Amino acid sequence: MEPLPTPVEVRLAARPADRDDAVRSAGALLVQAGFCDAGYVASLLRREQVATTYLGQGVAIPHGMVEDKGLVRRTGLAVLQVPDGVAWGSADKPVHLVVAIAAASDEHITVLRRLTRLMRDGSRIDQLVRTARAEDIVAALTSDAAPDAAAAPAQDFPLGLDLTLNYPNGLHARPAGQWAQLAGRFQAALRVRHGDAVADARNMAALLSLGAGRGAALRLSAQGPDAEAALAALRDLVLRLGDEETRQAELAAARQAQAQGLGRVLGDWQPAARQTISGIAASPGLVVGTLVSAEAGTLEVADQHQGFAEEAALLDRALNAAAAQIYHLAEQARAQGRAEQAGIFDAHGQMLRDPALLREVSRLVVQGHGAAWAWRHVLAERVAVQRTVADAVLAARAADLQDVGERVLRHLLGRGDDAGTDPSTWPRDALLLADDLSPSVTAQIDVQRVKGFCTARGGPTAHTAILARALGLPAVVAAGPGVLHLQPGERAILDGYRGQLHVAPTEKALRETQSMIERLARHQAEEAASRLQPATTTDGHTLEIAANVNRADQVARALEQGAEGVGLMRTEFLFLERDHVPDEEEQFAVYQAMVQALGGRPLIVRTLDIGGDKQVPHLNLPVEENPFLGVRGARLCLQRDDLLMPQLRALVRAAQTGPLSIMFPMISTVDEVRQLKARLAEVQRQLGIGAAIPVGIMIEVPSAARMADRLAAHVDFFSIGTNDLTQYTLAVDRQHPQLAGMADSLHPAVLRLVADTVAGARRHGRWVGVCGGLAGEPLGAALLAGLGVQELSMSVGDLTAIKALLRRHSLAELQALAQQALDMDDGDQVRALGARLRSAPEGL
Ligand code: PEP
Ligand code: MG
Repeated sequence: MEPLPTPVEVRLAARPADRDDAVRSAGALLVQAGFCDAGYVASLLRREQVATTYLGQGVAIPHGMVEDKGLVRRTGLAVLQVPDGVAWGSADKPVHLVVAIAAASDEHITVLRRLTRLMRDGSRIDQLVRTARAEDIVAALTSDAAPDAAAAPAQDFPLGLDLTLNYPNGLHARPAGQWAQLAGRFQAALRVRHGDAVADARNMAALLSLGAGRGAALRLSAQGPDAEAALAALRDLVLRLGDEETRQAELAAARQAQAQGLGRVLGDWQPAARQTISGIAASPGLVVGTLVSAEAGTLEVADQHQGFAEEAALLDRALNAAAAQIYHLAEQARAQGRAEQAGIFDAHGQMLRDPALLREVSRLVVQGHGAAWAWRHVLAERVAVQRTVADAVLAARAADLQDVGERVLRHLLGRGDDAGTDPSTWPRDALLLADDLSPSVTAQIDVQRVKGFCTARGGPTAHTAILARALGLPAVVAAGPGVLHLQPGERAILDGYRGQLHVAPTEKALRETQSMIERLARHQAEEAASRLQPATTTDGHTLEIAANVNRADQVARALEQGAEGVGLMRTEFLFLERDHVPDEEEQFAVYQAMVQALGGRPLIVRTLDIGGDKQVPHLNLPVEENPFLGVRGARLCLQRDDLLMPQLRALVRAAQTGPLSIMFPMISTVDEVRQLKARLAEVQRQLGIGAAIPVGIMIEVPSAARMADRLAAHVDFFSIGTNDLTQYTLAVDRQHPQLAGMADSLHPAVLRLVADTVAGARRHGRWVGVCGGLAGEPLGAALLAGLGVQELSMSVGDLTAIKALLRRHSLAELQALAQQALDMDDGDQVRALGARLRSAPEGL
């Protein structure tokens, strides 16, 4: 038989003078309702003297001393709603709900469980504090029908949309944390489905358990008063983070390529040592140091239960303290400009708010376990499950979970300030050995003392490895349990290029290591200096090298990698990332920021190129049978003044703040250029800005390449879009899954059109650049230079290699190579010519 619901007495809008007054009033309600004898009120007050009954989230649960159970007649609750709040001893927040309990046996445990569950959803408690209906409070405490925001939903809501996850590393903790944070800001419930699994978007752990890898098809759905806005905001965030994730992955790949280049300096040199342990190279570098164990040791946890209120309060305090520490770490990282590191700690903060985790722990506490024991138990289970996830990137998140778990555990055990080990005792050349260094320990590493680390577990994508790279420390991970048996205090050489730890090296090996370290430093300095050198061929011809960059915050890195300007800023992202058309002001701010970031260097902004593979849902454009051959790029702009004119206005205004050229995409006829230039002239007239702004067009349609000599009369420059030029020349959809191999930009047909374009431009003294993918391919860049192209604009990751390649050749050599390429049968034959290019000398 179902137990009868616990009776509840409620007093709304109470205004107790202080805590004791509140306890007395609630006690009086219990007495009046016949739940207990009058003496029980004194017992409630005594309990409060012994230990506070503050539970957290503005809720207190006064209850009598165990020895006074005899004063209870039947189990019941009395709730005092205190909208203005009442101070509660040393609790840092005022109490708004006083839930006094008279418990004869353990029926009130269900109530307590509901209460803790409600507390995990702050908005539910807020509703109870504000409600004018006592029934709401009664219902929340007695019925299980109360919506549980944390419960895993099983189905989509009717309002929803589909999208593909474009994160190179899948949905991992950092972005999942940001999704959860955003979802928490809306009243509407948001769900995310991947295959058959559905997660509440507020629940980061549930999101991670979707196991959504790169390219996963997701359905987002929402229900509630602000469902539409919530859905749009989540979609925008998912897409925006996709760009960021891609950028991070590119950066990591670029770093890795750089590290590999340096690693070649080491050749097959191996230092002689007593023992060599091999693992995965997680962060590059070569150092000599002293082995130090960074194992925190296992925290001892006894299962002691000191009463529900005490345990709940303990847990609440520990969670708050851990959250404060994590927040501090994130802020510190942000202040030091380490956004990636800050993101990791933000994700840790989200893990703490995982309602399912807290519910699990509360359940064990309610069953009579100590909070520390319960926390440790639930965390250990979760870490074990996470370690078994098939996706290596997601499995690496076990270390994060463990890290967060141990931080809270230390607070639960009253050792909150203890970092687990004592870094102040480490030598000044410490090589840390650990099972799996936690991100927290890694982030706090004092680089004056620590020179590198080697872990038994872990992987190259774990946050620990990311942080090691951010700190510039060499690291070897997944080196196996043997690491833990090494003798602290021994000398060792850590090779983060090849993933090796050489223990107890010979004196000779140490001397060799020292000279290797010096050689590496020289190479590094040379490489950095050569990145900034112009791409001048051995016979003195200089090509302009630019980057394809869409945002001002990416400019600094492009310049650092050797870009001399931006040769293509695709403006579609401005439209793709939003759920509305950005207005003139919004666009002006973006273009102006770009001009500023470039500090006087050239910038080419391409007007909107929508259509084909770039669809913007909120523009509601008609579906076309053949989008690549339809209303796309310039054709769309000419039909839609509402899109073109504000963009041109913003561009013309931004051009007054620094160098800016305007480029029109997908030009196929001379008439399109005439019309677009007329629109630009009109905008300049409206704005009263007469100063000439350089205007160029993209050459990406065969007709434009063949008509280059006619088009050149109307514009200042051409930039060849080899991606589209290839698909239109070879009649191969650039996205076609089976034909991708045929979309070969090295095909002589494409190269001949490049030659036509250059010849046409020369007739009018115009310059030609290339901003399609071919410019960033070594052989492609060499051939384009040989065909007479003057500017190459490419992805940031390609800059260094292309500049170095051009510097190794003479223009005459490249011209000869290009002439041969024009006379080949197909792309494969052209590719074979690549063997004639000089490769980089060893080590560079
Ligand atoms: C191209 O087509 O080569 C080009 C640079 O434009 P997008 O890739 O943006 O179409
Ligand atoms: Mg194109």
